[in-house]
Amino acid sequence: MKKKPFLFDLTYPELQEIVTGFGEQKFRARQVWEQAYRHLAGSFDEMSVIPKKLREELTSGISYSHLNTHTDLHSNDGWTRKILFDLPDKSQVETVLMEYETRWTACISTQAGCALGCTFCATGQGGLQRNITSGEIVEQVMFFDRLLNKKDEKLSNLVFMGMGEPFANYKEVMKAVDTLTNPEGYNFGARRITISTVGLVPQIERFAEEKRQVNLAVSLHAATDELRESMLPINKRYPIEVLLKACKQYVNKTRRRISFEWALIDGVNDTPEQAKELARLLKGILSHVNFIPLNPTRGFKGRESKQKRIEQFQSILDDAGVPNTLRLRRGIDINAGCGQLRQEANKQD
Ligand code: SAH
Ligand code: SF4
Repeated sequence: MKKKPFLFDLTYPELQEIVTGFGEQKFRARQVWEQAYRHLAGSFDEMSVIPKKLREELTSGISYSHLNTHTDLHSNDGWTRKILFDLPDKSQVETVLMEYETRWTACISTQAGCALGCTFCATGQGGLQRNITSGEIVEQVMFFDRLLNKKDEKLSNLVFMGMGEPFANYKEVMKAVDTLTNPEGYNFGARRITISTVGLVPQIERFAEEKRQVNLAVSLHAATDELRESMLPINKRYPIEVLLKACKQYVNKTRRRISFEWALIDGVNDTPEQAKELARLLKGILSHVNFIPLNPTRGFKGRESKQKRIEQFQSILDDAGVPNTLRLRRGIDINAGCGQLRQEANKQD
């Protein structure tokens, strides 16, 4: 049996082909596309501009949703909402919605799980279930924007920092970016999208070539190979020197600033030596370092850095002229660190 196509996987021409295959005129496909991406309809049935007969045909011929809410949590601080979704084959992804000074950011998953095994990351601790499709990425965005739309608000930023390594699922992730930024449809600004990678060098090079307006963040977390390797196994394949060379090329080619992420772990990567080495590495690269105190996970013994250490670390970078920001951790009480909710939900397994 042929698998039912999934609406959010379809490009506009593909949708058009299906709709005209029903014996309908092309403009009906445009209406469906606009209803889904501009009016944020939650089902074909909600598309009242579409005749009932076509709505029924669409409903039986095209799947509208792959996401089923498994767990839905709001944090006590009132800023964060996190959902663990079941996909049709029972693999799972997490999506987080955060409010920052009246701006809404969604943190999107790009794989169900992750194969790269970073020691401190709950997703890495659980391994990879499978790559997800572009539609399964796009639907996470639609899901939250529909909720916001109901209260006359909308998403302002998208970060691909949920479960998974976006560059290990490159094709589907870029297809999702194309769908989300399609001017005839959802029309989300590419500049308001950030993709975070653990540092897959060939894909960073490819991404630089494509000269997209999307922001790039690289998870650095350590300034020496020995330490980075002990936290991020991928460093064995792409050591710091190779990685930073690709980052420099990215900046030169695109003229865009690159972000580096650094989860501060008590006594591990928050030492003055690491700060000095980091400042040395980033000298002359158009970049910004984002610090976040470690979110403790079940499979990793480390703890978040102490306030004093963080201040000391930042002041070393400040003195060296390396721009940096300390980000807030949000929704600690709902395991808002990505991958943590799946870990909790499957504790008994
Ligand atoms: N795979 C990509 C994107 C998903 S992870 C990447 O690694 O960049 C998004 C960010 O969360 C990464 O910077 C990752 O290192 C960080 N992260 C993972 N586990 C964390 C934890 N327990 N505490 C703080 N940050 C964490
Ligand atoms: Fe995968 Fe990113 Fe987690 Fe590493 S930090 S295991 S790359 S999701």
